[in-house]
Amino acid sequence: MPASPQIAHIGIAVPSIAAALPFYHDVLGLEPGPPEEADGSRIVSLGLGGSAVELLEPLTPESPIGRFLARRGPGIHHVCYRVPDLDQALAACRAAGYDLIDQTPRFGAGGHRIAFVHPRTTAGILLELTE
Ligand code: ZN
Repeated sequence: MPASPQIAHIGIAVPSIAAALPFYHDVLGLEPGPPEEADGSRIVSLGLGGSAVELLEPLTPESPIGRFLARRGPGIHHVCYRVPDLDQALAACRAAGYDLIDQTPRFGAGGHRIAFVHPRTTAGILLELTE
């Protein structure tokens, strides 16, 4: 039986990781992973069992996270689902008319293959798929 999809991580846009981290570290007791950079953002991942919270801080105002913060303020930027087969999931999305931002998988933080689905066809949530 194929593995069922899971929540891989929730990406949260913040103006400052340093300012956001105490809640996750001091209150929840989560240990941050090493900072990474992708898509013009600094990313710190905090593992929560089989999933994670990713704090996303813009490196420049023109980056996707910088623009998101300017438009909407801090908050949930995207939800990432882990699927058993990313290529198959993208093909299914395409066949069903979902609006793919990435037509083919690319490499995101941590070297994982990822692809984004546009929020206009997913109830307003930017979806990231990984495997
Ligand atoms: Zn993500």
